[in-house]
Amino acid sequence: MHKRATQDVGNMGKQQRTAHLEPPIGKYRLAVQVAFVLICIWIGVEFHYFVRYLESGGTTTFVERPPGAEAFLPISSLMSLYYFFLTGVIHPAHPAGLFMLLGIIIVSLIFGKSFCSWICPVGLLSESLGDWSKKLFKRQFKLPKWADYPLRSLKYLLLLFFVYAIFFKMTTASLKSFLDSSYNVVADIKMYYFFADISSFALWTLVILFVLSFFIRNFWCRYLCPYGGLLGFLSLLRPFKIRRNVISCIDCARCAEVCPSSIKVDKVATVESDECTSCLSCLDVCPVPETLELKATPTRFRVPKKAVAIGVVAVYVLVCAIGWISGNWQNSVTREEYLQHFKYLDGYGHPTGTRDIDELNKRSRMTNPDSPGDNSGR
Ligand code: SF4
Ligand code: SF4
Repeated sequence: MHKRATQDVGNMGKQQRTAHLEPPIGKYRLAVQVAFVLICIWIGVEFHYFVRYLESGGTTTFVERPPGAEAFLPISSLMSLYYFFLTGVIHPAHPAGLFMLLGIIIVSLIFGKSFCSWICPVGLLSESLGDWSKKLFKRQFKLPKWADYPLRSLKYLLLLFFVYAIFFKMTTASLKSFLDSSYNVVADIKMYYFFADISSFALWTLVILFVLSFFIRNFWCRYLCPYGGLLGFLSLLRPFKIRRNVISCIDCARCAEVCPSSIKVDKVATVESDECTSCLSCLDVCPVPETLELKATPTRFRVPKKAVAIGVVAVYVLVCAIGWISGNWQNSVTREEYLQHFKYLDGYGHPTGTRDIDELNKRSRMTNPDSPGDNSGR
């Protein structure tokens, strides 16, 4: 089959083969991914100097805390988003995180799980590890189906836990209580120390995830990332889907070979999978014009690859810009408040289960709903 297909492609006139083929988008995707990695590094460096300022007790030059760090607080942002839906209030502790999450959700609803393959730095790392492994071993290792299916549900189980704990267990008052809490205010600083002062357990966990992602493509993204689970779930509603023209398709299977999500693109008419990250790699390799395309449902209108690249970045940046222009980007925690919090950083603990959330609910019921937290008034 493969041989016949290759001959068929060879028999086509070069002009015919390239007549309607869009140029590959892969290099532009890589450029977007690298740009976001550079932004993350810049945020990391700024945050490091902000923490150094706090460590010095305010004696070194003050460096503004970069609000972009809140991109790494997905649970707090999810709570903030739910709180916004319940009250119409943008909680002031991590407002940038709320807008970034909103941007990612809107992008996923339009372009599917594209955040994972266009913006997320972990996605780029995961993809690169898989590529290096393929180059080294000349083959792509995959888990057998009996292991792959149950493991893929793990990220949804993790997501279910968070959804249950936030959307079903927490009241408006306990949400506010958590968002107001000192722990939430310094959650980004706590996260900084998680990596800067990493425990041997956490380090070994990361090393194991690295090794697994090297041998099994996208191990973290495919099996464990609850963020990916949320975006995959939302992506089921996407209007733009990869469609294969089964009549002109020559069954060369190139699309399935390059798919980082191991989707059998060559066997379906429409890619409905929640694992599709809209990376467009399959479109880039398809040798037959107008055979594999991104189409808007139900109109069958063909969406150019460049429109996806521009759309993903533009929608995300636009939502973040709305946060910035509306004055909801920087939080309102003052330098003095941060210095004060920093003294007690080790004493601030995170709710670790539904029992802690019950406790939070109990406390918030006992507290005056107008001033339930220790940072109320901001
Ligand atoms: S189906 Fe195509 S766009 Fe979707 S993940 Fe696979 S290669 Fe990327
Ligand atoms: S859709 Fe896939 S199998 Fe069909 S021609 Fe294109 S790359 Fe080959």
